[in-house]
Amino acid sequence: MFEEKDSARTPVSELGEFKLIDHLTKHFKIHHDTTVKGIGDDAAVLQPKDKQQWVVTTDLLVEGVHFDLSYMPLKHLGYKAVMVNLSDVYAMNAEAKQLTVSIAASNRFPVEALEELYAGILAAANGYKVDVVGGDTTSSTSGLVISITALGCAPAEKITYRSGAKENDLLVLTGDLGAAYLGLQVLEREKQVFQVNPKAQPDLEPYSYLIERQLKPEARKDVPKLLDSLKVQPTAMIDISDGLSSEILHLCKHSQTGCNLYEEKIPLDPQVMATCEEFELDSTTIALSGGEDYELLFTIDADDFPKIKGNPNLTVIGHMTAASEGSHLITRANTKIPLIARGWDGMSQEEN
Ligand code: ADP
Ligand code: MG
Repeated sequence: MFEEKDSARTPVSELGEFKLIDHLTKHFKIHHDTTVKGIGDDAAVLQPKDKQQWVVTTDLLVEGVHFDLSYMPLKHLGYKAVMVNLSDVYAMNAEAKQLTVSIAASNRFPVEALEELYAGILAAANGYKVDVVGGDTTSSTSGLVISITALGCAPAEKITYRSGAKENDLLVLTGDLGAAYLGLQVLEREKQVFQVNPKAQPDLEPYSYLIERQLKPEARKDVPKLLDSLKVQPTAMIDISDGLSSEILHLCKHSQTGCNLYEEKIPLDPQVMATCEEFELDSTTIALSGGEDYELLFTIDADDFPKIKGNPNLTVIGHMTAASEGSHLITRANTKIPLIARGWDGMSQEEN
């Protein structure tokens, strides 16, 4: 992950707004010829390519609501804020091209803190080849607020909505589930241990994958390209930000279908299984109701199964049914349980 950095404290007022914007944005590069003008004028100018449609998505992240800086370093926060948006673009089966980044920060945040935030944004923009083309910078009376907008494009026939799934389509998942939620549980536990005994030296190695998935998630940029190369056009797609069950129910609702999800098919990393045992949590519940995995969930025509079969990135976890059959989890013991939307928020409310 990223290196920690100790730094001086220069108040933002010492630089002033214009110098601050220059300072924070000077390292951004332009990667795409669809960007005619990036940062520096009243507005960015973009040049759409022939026959492409644009997708646009925004997320607003508020300190104390969406992130806690006591275990989320600012550089990771910047990186993650970009990933959350890119994931939504890839979930439309589109290619991400541009970002705007707007921040409001209280005077608790010196220039060096904003530099760290922007170092994470820069790492994400370079790693995923997206152009930061604008934003806004202002002060806040309490804490930090970040809003990122991502733009992407794709030919009209490739863009994939939540609404296209049909009865008998296969339900396919990328990657594995539950790790990001468990990573947060581990970090919260360590924070409590630290408050009692600041000298404690926790061994986080057994949880390295979980913590990485929580602090440095990666959006699935590879998936639209993979599907294109396999000549598979998904019928419906969504990204997993709130837990598998909630996202499946979104697909079913928008597509007017039901579904059968098979518990034994849900992919879990060995660290997820080991940590669930340690924390006495049920791994299926964590996969269904955890969140922030940023994997993609999509449906394909059953005739396309041979094209994805055996691909290590893709797991068939169920199939769509008629809406009248409802949405169910088929357990390992072969019982049928109705799926309910119990995402990230629902869980944290229960625990409070
Ligand atoms: P305006 O007064 O027109 O809003 P600003 O001085 O706020 O202009 O912004 C100047 C330029 O810097 C614009 O291109 C704007 O999009 C960009 N910009 C401002 N703040 C940010 C930021 N936090 N991140 C990236 N670009 C920014
Ligand atoms: Mg402005």
